[in-house]
Amino acid sequence: MSMNKQGRQTQPHEGGASDPHPTTTGNRALMLEEPLIFEIGDSERTGVDWPADCWGESRLGDLARLERIDLPGLSEPETIRHYTRLSRQNYGIDLGLFPLGSCTMKHNPRLNEKMARLPGFADIHPLQPVASVQGALGVIHELAHWLKTLTGMPAVAMSPKAGAHGELCGILAIRAALEKRGDARQVVLVPESAHGTNPATAAFAGYAVEDIPATSEGRVDFDALQKRLGPDVAGVMITNPNTCGLFERDMKRISDAVHEAGGFVYCDGANFNAIVGRVRPGDLGIDAMHLNLHKTFSTPHGGGGPGSGPVVFSEALAPFAPLPFVEKTGEGSFRLVEEETAEDHHGDSFGRMTAFHGQMGMFTRALTYIMSHGADGLRQVSEDAVLNANYILRSMEDLLEAPFAPSGPCMHEALFSDKGVADGFSTVDIAKGLIDEGFHPMTMYFPLVVHGAMLVEPTETESKADIDQFIAAFRSVVERAKAGDESLHGAPYHAPRSRLDETAAARKPMLVYQEPAQAEAAE
Ligand SMILES: *Cc1c(COP(=O)(O)O)cnc(C)c1O
Repeated sequence: MSMNKQGRQTQPHEGGASDPHPTTTGNRALMLEEPLIFEIGDSERTGVDWPADCWGESRLGDLARLERIDLPGLSEPETIRHYTRLSRQNYGIDLGLFPLGSCTMKHNPRLNEKMARLPGFADIHPLQPVASVQGALGVIHELAHWLKTLTGMPAVAMSPKAGAHGELCGILAIRAALEKRGDARQVVLVPESAHGTNPATAAFAGYAVEDIPATSEGRVDFDALQKRLGPDVAGVMITNPNTCGLFERDMKRISDAVHEAGGFVYCDGANFNAIVGRVRPGDLGIDAMHLNLHKTFSTPHGGGGPGSGPVVFSEALAPFAPLPFVEKTGEGSFRLVEEETAEDHHGDSFGRMTAFHGQMGMFTRALTYIMSHGADGLRQVSEDAVLNANYILRSMEDLLEAPFAPSGPCMHEALFSDKGVADGFSTVDIAKGLIDEGFHPMTMYFPLVVHGAMLVEPTETESKADIDQFIAAFRSVVERAKAGDESLHGAPYHAPRSRLDETAAARKPMLVYQEPAQAEAAE
């Protein structure tokens, strides 16, 4: 325990290796320990000089505040340093490879940012007269065209604000279609290989969720699925490529069987990065699928920015899509269809997902990304994403068990289990060891079908040199876990915080600020 400049008690290197020279500041070399802004600047100080008579007669009269509100008083350099130091405690894609499986943490081209910051896109308001935002509506319309073309689907709802929100949008459209035909189906089937948001979405929409097992090859068990189909099944939700990083080869056969039984097919398309430009989901009989613009079409995400989850629809579901949507009325002119009229939408829309049209900043970035790659470039995106994942798979499989590797290549992510590490060691030790090597850990313990799963998605934007460096670090940490290197249990040693109690952090979060002395007393 030591006191830093501001008199705050800090615990440098909590739980880590003992440092022969503990610092008085809590800082570790150029990694700076940062107190809360309220601890740095108390309300006794102010960061600027006020003229003595500046307060004069208050125009607020009796309404003038007499109590202090305890805002911190900091100068401009103090404020900038505070936030810049905080930003350095985050790992981000601009610092290094970010191999979180299923998350598609790819480089965000700066051209996207330049376009999104153009005042005509950045400074508009959703309540502006439509005549004054024709360019922005044009961007939404153009992006919608690309999404429909890339997926081979006739309609798209642009307003859902993230992948999971898109899933809800798709399921609500399925429910509206079933209600229209007076069909009270209550069950949604979700295979084990689906993303966790799929069963959550179906349950949230009021459906009973039933599991469909995976085959030993990590794909949907078609026979089990077919056997379960019947008049109570509203539909299926299938993640493709699935969370084992594998393409569901039976997709068309599954769609046909579900349609035959009167249900609808929802596909989780968050992993579209693996197939963009190569597979059109419309050809696979899918009725609704969300795309994560913030994954496949870049744009910062993951604690760092908003998402966007447009949903493409088949002919059968298109009439039930949510409002609003953009319609082209002439060369360079667009209107926003905000209300249902018999002529516009046949009165079948299930309603709205959001107050307005969707995430304009994401739309601008995604369209920039798509247009700067073009159709051929997007095809290469998926090819390189898959190549990079297979390079990692084949570079690790002699050391780590890769349960589905013997049956063929993977798609955009490589899956390993922790079988073969020493007793008392698990995936979490490998993940924490990677932090000390300067890499964000991979997705851990997911999917559940694999013991101690490690899901690694490099994306297409990493160079071979960067991937080789990651593989070398990954191999060395795995070798330590296999050799039973006890020091791994204490990793990470070189992060702003060492190993935290993950259960307590999740189950007993401290959401209210307490003075350090109080917090200690409460423990
Ligand atoms: C990321 C992801 C989601 C959820 O998307 P959000 O934008 O985080 O809501 C759903 N399914 C899969 C397969 C994903 O990878």
